[in-house]
Amino acid sequence: MNQLFSAGCATAPTIRQRGQHEVFCGLTSIIWLHRKVQDAFFLIVGSRTCAHLMQSAAGVMIFSEPRFATAIMEERDLAGMADMHDELDRVVDKLLARRPDIGMLVLVASCPSEVIKFDLSKAAERLNRVHAPRHRVLCYSGSGIETTFTQGEDNFLSALIGEAPRPQSPADAARLVIAGCLPDVVEDQLARLVSELGIEKVHFLPGRRSSAMPVVGPQTRFILAQPYLGAAAAALETRGARRIDAIFPLGEEGTTAWLQAIATAFGVSAGRFHEVTAAPRKRARAALAHYLPWLEGRRIFFFPDSQLEPSLARFLAREAGAEIVEVGSPYLHRDHAAGELALLPAGVALSEGQDVDRQIERCRASDPDLIVCGMGLANPFEAEGRLTKWSIEFAFTPIHGYEQAGDLAELFARPLRRNALLDTGLTAGQGASCS
Ligand code: SF4
Repeated sequence: MNQLFSAGCATAPTIRQRGQHEVFCGLTSIIWLHRKVQDAFFLIVGSRTCAHLMQSAAGVMIFSEPRFATAIMEERDLAGMADMHDELDRVVDKLLARRPDIGMLVLVASCPSEVIKFDLSKAAERLNRVHAPRHRVLCYSGSGIETTFTQGEDNFLSALIGEAPRPQSPADAARLVIAGCLPDVVEDQLARLVSELGIEKVHFLPGRRSSAMPVVGPQTRFILAQPYLGAAAAALETRGARRIDAIFPLGEEGTTAWLQAIATAFGVSAGRFHEVTAAPRKRARAALAHYLPWLEGRRIFFFPDSQLEPSLARFLAREAGAEIVEVGSPYLHRDHAAGELALLPAGVALSEGQDVDRQIERCRASDPDLIVCGMGLANPFEAEGRLTKWSIEFAFTPIHGYEQAGDLAELFARPLRRNALLDTGLTAGQGASCS
């Protein structure tokens, strides 16, 4: 079913599609979440399919004894011949005996566990009673029925926020919560900038340790560092925390606008803001300039993947001079994406959800210079002589903040440059070096 909705912004109406889609389920977000929260263990309650997905998506990481695993439901579980709760308790006991360093055990629901209505929240409550305080146990859904790719992180964060301590007095509450999983290097840079603006009691969510939980109450302001956090934002608002509205910190413009929104909310003077941001802004612009010859005027088509697409398209259009043909997103949170959508050039097609065959037809008809899509579509498009960029890299690579603005542009420039190298040869000194 395809429907047209007005986007309420400068762009063309949104193409809303429901049909065959080529996206990851929310389990895949465990791959970056387990690296971020260093004492958490993610136990998927699922099938061999889920285990295979994680094995393929994690790549070489699976050889480094990662902090995630799948409790595979066997036929006797599905047939009701075994008590699933007893089975899970046994697996958890074994796991915690083997890995006593686990501070937080996260049970992750999958399609099979949801289809048979296995109540993981009940299991988490029970296991928590047995194993807390040494090991906290919580749960969320990463199933393909409920979630697409980054929405797994959204559900995890909202489960975490449910556990956040409540303030005993107004002075206890965190002043600013920055929500959204960021690589440590990016978190450190943003933390330094926010601290230089003079803002104290700032917490990143998720923290690096499961015990690093912010106290959240009506005195707390929060800002999203990632665009896919609808449920997490709602959970924070339920606690009375107020959202600072901003576009997302991608590129020089995005990072400045994001920091400016924080500065305005906390009454930081314009002089101080300029002092703190002038040098990194200059560095970001210089790094970006390097890649502009590869991106200016290029026509780019985004397939839906992570909900980062509107922000990436805004960055490419406004900071790199690219032309955006279509921005696909698995889901558009109208409030959170409003700033990004308003900055997209007029005429950009927006699509929400997916009917992949129709989208492939639109993409072929528009014949873009670069297609940002998943790995399932990339090589077939390349075989047609089209250039692609794997969208999953935007979820795994540090791309937020000033110091990463050049790296973000490079991710888009790389396939264009590689193609030039392979097809026509590059003259010495032309363009930037891309690995
Ligand atoms: S959760 Fe569902 S979509 Fe994801 S791997 Fe398991 S069965 Fe597949």
